[in-house]
Amino acid sequence: MAERVETESRKLLGRLRDAMAGEDTGQARLDKITHLIATSIGSEVCSIYLFRDEDTLELCATEGLNPEAVHQTRMRLGEGLVGKVARRRRVVNTANAPQERGFRFMPETGEEVFSSFMGVPILRLGDTLGVLVVQSKEAREFSADEVYALEVVAMVLAEMAELGAFVGDGSAMEARHSQPAMLRGTVAQEGVAEGHIWLHEPRVVVSNPIADDPHRELERLTEAVEELRVGVDKMLALASVDKEQAEVLEAYKMFANSKGWMRRMEEDISRGLSAEAAVEKEQSLARARMGQATDSYLRERLSDLDDLSNRLLRILTGQGTDTGAEMPANPILVARNIGPAELLDYGRSLKGIILEAGSVGSHAAIVARALAIPLIVHAERATLEALNGDHVMVDGEQGIVHLRPDDTVVTAFRDKMAMQAAAVERYVSIRDKPAETLCGSVVGLHMNAGLMADLPSLEGSGAEGVGLFRTELQFLVRNKMPTRSELSALYARVLDAAGGKTVVFRTLDIGSDKVLPYMKPNDEPNPALGWRAIRVGLDKPGVLRMQLQALIRAANGRPLTIMFPFVAQYEEYTQAKAEMDKALDRERRLGHVVPETVEVGAMLETPSLAFAPQKFFEEVGFLSIGGNDLKQFFFAADRENERVRRRYDTLNVSFLSFIERIVERCELTGTSLSFCGEDAGRPVEALCLSAIGLRKLSMRPASIGPVKSLLRRSNLEDVRKVIMDARHRGDMNVRPAIMEYLRNQG
Ligand code: PEP
Ligand code: MG
Repeated sequence: MAERVETESRKLLGRLRDAMAGEDTGQARLDKITHLIATSIGSEVCSIYLFRDEDTLELCATEGLNPEAVHQTRMRLGEGLVGKVARRRRVVNTANAPQERGFRFMPETGEEVFSSFMGVPILRLGDTLGVLVVQSKEAREFSADEVYALEVVAMVLAEMAELGAFVGDGSAMEARHSQPAMLRGTVAQEGVAEGHIWLHEPRVVVSNPIADDPHRELERLTEAVEELRVGVDKMLALASVDKEQAEVLEAYKMFANSKGWMRRMEEDISRGLSAEAAVEKEQSLARARMGQATDSYLRERLSDLDDLSNRLLRILTGQGTDTGAEMPANPILVARNIGPAELLDYGRSLKGIILEAGSVGSHAAIVARALAIPLIVHAERATLEALNGDHVMVDGEQGIVHLRPDDTVVTAFRDKMAMQAAAVERYVSIRDKPAETLCGSVVGLHMNAGLMADLPSLEGSGAEGVGLFRTELQFLVRNKMPTRSELSALYARVLDAAGGKTVVFRTLDIGSDKVLPYMKPNDEPNPALGWRAIRVGLDKPGVLRMQLQALIRAANGRPLTIMFPFVAQYEEYTQAKAEMDKALDRERRLGHVVPETVEVGAMLETPSLAFAPQKFFEEVGFLSIGGNDLKQFFFAADRENERVRRRYDTLNVSFLSFIERIVERCELTGTSLSFCGEDAGRPVEALCLSAIGLRKLSMRPASIGPVKSLLRRSNLEDVRKVIMDARHRGDMNVRPAIMEYLRNQG
């Protein structure tokens, strides 16, 4: 019996392939297919519905329904049984369709006479392309074999659609990948960019979904799985694999040995699919489940399975990640996710980055920020929608990706870019002028950096110096700890490039979200509050000492400025400072030149330090407010958590009052104070910070122009008055009042 079913299924696929082979138009092919399926299954009706746009399905071919309804009947996602199949991405199989929940009567198709209904989603890698339906008058449920057969056919249809078999006739299929699409995501690095898509991992193309010889295909699958297993075992055996990676590999191994996975693929092959089509069918189903899984563990495992399927597909098709395609001009990278080192390899050649996964605080985001490349994360479906070379516009202010934009979007977007370019021109004209306000205050504007590649911006942006050099990037992008001499050479180059301007080197700030790939990860329940930054430096001083030594040697007699991150109490500063003093002594004893002057400061990133004893303020060389961390601890709102991170505004009266208190304490002791969190680079925030007394701000290089421009046109005394008034009125937030003031100022 099973053999007969398999033979039938193979026969149907064989006929489908023949139907595809001719010179027909896309429509003629679809018509032939519906006819073949109806005949083979013995149903009166077979129809193909395809997506016209994100939520409209269109009847594109039918055998048995009114032919006039083709391209006329449309339904929204979720509407009727067809819409239900598409939304749920699951089969609906019923003997009594009119009784089924969600049934919608469509008189134009003449379908009221059909009692049985089976709809199968046409899936391709998590993407639902449409729905394949069979209906019959006789009230019967279709058998499991028939369902399976239709799923296999749906898979082949999806594959053929991807190969463009149905285009050329104005049908819905033609619209796929040629229509504009808008994707929403989260901004991880601001900026706008226009360019062409470059897929980090080009998708595997299966050009032969149907195969004649199941034995040969089974052999191919078995060989490929074996190769995959050996590969995973080898990776596991590598000593350098850390715990987390090992867990993923173990999961791989589990799947690679999974009987269920193999059995289903073998069954698909026996029904006429090629080995790669069988892998892809499983992958599609896993992705459909992934989209619905709410359990994070399950989602991760399904995602592992997805990666594994990709590897298997590459083995089977021989298609590597390098397809020989040439990177387009102004490339905008699209990937599910990317590591920091890979991103650095692309470097500044990229104009923008779009990730399906990723997070605002990921290492990739840190690199993108350092390179000042607009980055959108959580852009769902990006790798499905985008094709290499597609025209794309990235709005890294709104978090929107316009894929294959139409003319109106292009015009509006280019206007926006032109306005920004004009503003940049204006900034160039004030580049060498100070950020002097109308009331005569001067605010020092410095830049944040983290890579050697940032340094050219020092000249162009008009920054007075580097107010924050994040040193962790050199540690994050390698797969082993950098050596002292490597670091020293790099820091020396940074100082050379700064050409005498001050560079504030922040010592290693790891832990929390920044985990070094070669360090044993600590299982901490609350990493942001855990063993991080200076806490690591003081508990295990080896790396801190090495870094301090490298910095002293890099200075080679020149002035040196360093600061310690995440100091929460006075003692941590004195201990860290003592390490610096010891390092200086040691270098002196070894006969090395020591810096001409040494400034040692601390970052104020926890509320506790604002209340440190007066002695601390007197002793510390300078303070820099790390607003990103300080704000998250002030409001107890994780800076990485999308749900809460935008809930609290920097211009909230409580937070501003708190910053003001820090300013007052520093004024009392004459302690130099700066602000180096992201807010320093937002013009309105920068204006308010200046109004409450900050005289040094450090920000992304691209922000210096806009911030300077606003400061030069503002009167800080007036702004201060607006803030005070808002506070006295009892406003929760000063932003509305400030915005109104700015509007009135024009
Ligand atoms: C901050 O916390 O504001 C800061 C500048 O440090 P980082 O963003 O690197 O934690
Ligand atoms: Mg910080």
